[in-house]
Amino acid sequence: MALQLETVALRQFSTMGVGGLAEMVRITDEDTLLRALDFAETHNRTPFVLGGGSNILFPDEGVSDLIFYMQDQHVHYEAGQVTCGAGAVFDDVINTAVKRGWAGIECLSGIPGTAGAAPIQNIGAYGQEIAETLVRVRAWDRLTQAWVDLDRDACAFSYRDSRFKREANRYIITQIQLQLTPGGSAPLRYPDLQKADLDPSDLRAVRQTVLQIRASKGMVYDPFDVNSHSCGSFFTNPILTAEEYALILPRLPADHPVYPAGTCFKLSAAWLIERAGIFKGTRRGNAATSQKHSLALINPGQASAHDLKDLARWVQEKVRTQFGVNLQPEPLVWGGL
Ligand SMILES: Cc1cc2nc3c(=O)[nH]c(=O)nc-3n(C[C@H](O)[C@H](O)[C@H](O)COP(=O)(O)OP(=O)(O)OC[C@H]3O[C@@H](n4cnc5c(N)ncnc54)[C@H](O)[C@@H]3O)c2cc1C
Repeated sequence: MALQLETVALRQFSTMGVGGLAEMVRITDEDTLLRALDFAETHNRTPFVLGGGSNILFPDEGVSDLIFYMQDQHVHYEAGQVTCGAGAVFDDVINTAVKRGWAGIECLSGIPGTAGAAPIQNIGAYGQEIAETLVRVRAWDRLTQAWVDLDRDACAFSYRDSRFKREANRYIITQIQLQLTPGGSAPLRYPDLQKADLDPSDLRAVRQTVLQIRASKGMVYDPFDVNSHSCGSFFTNPILTAEEYALILPRLPADHPVYPAGTCFKLSAAWLIERAGIFKGTRRGNAATSQKHSLALINPGQASAHDLKDLARWVQEKVRTQFGVNLQPEPLVWGGL
């Protein structure tokens, strides 16, 4: 069957609701992916892989890349092992796993997006990361022009990072496999979860609590709540070496939160932003910080990518001037900040 190309407004495929026009092809299986890659090469088009659009800031003027919209939503559950097509909605996978009593991803409940994108930035929340349960990634390697199966070590995961993010555009993930623990318990490491006094083996209750906490922070995508029209956290928590930390320590208020990260020190981006005087609901042009979370930059309705980038640079500048810390964006910002 011939490939179907459609012209779309990217803002309709983005949780921030921004982005101009692009041409798109829906990738429903591996055969379609190979045909779309052939088409792109023959027509001198650059492929760009899109999942749920919850971690990308597209440009207002649209893109000339050919959007590969990952749509394989097959999921297979067997004996604690879950094999997901790249286009499966990851929160649906979590919901089913929780209902089966399979532990390992319940604290990731409510993170928007697809299974295929989950390894890209090693999604994490409330004391869990996908790296803990992921056993295999199947991908097309555009460099060697071959299918590859990568195990967890080969994915080289770290905090909000992976080989896929570092070698951007090299791998097109078509399937991921997770090993969950039937009858297992949730790790209740996160203070908000500990406060809720949960039974760690009651995965349904853990999921509901995580969803409630996330919704109260605008961190569950909801078409009717503009506070969730974001990419989640816009900046990663800065991780500093001991030398870097010592250098800025005199500029940090004594009560700053800091966490060990191997031999490094992790600071809270949200705390730094608020202490730099940028509070929840701060508006700049048509963009704003969420009224529920200072780390989320949102589109309250009329914001363009230009407005959001301007706000992001302003936040970076305020934090840099006050504390000497460079905040790094977590989402893919098309064209850079
Ligand atoms: C309200 C909200 C809350 C969020 N909370 C969290 C959170 O708690 N923790 C967290 O980690 N993230 C969070 N995020 C960010 C986001 O949900 C995750 O990064 C998610 O994994 C992105 O999935 P996606 O399918 O939307 O990817 P997209 O936004 O479509 O793509 C993101 C990147 O992955 C690449 N990509 C996508 N699919 C593939 C594939 N199959 N193969 C190769 N590359 C691919 C894209 O090219 C792009 O570079 C949040 C976002 C929102 C809007």
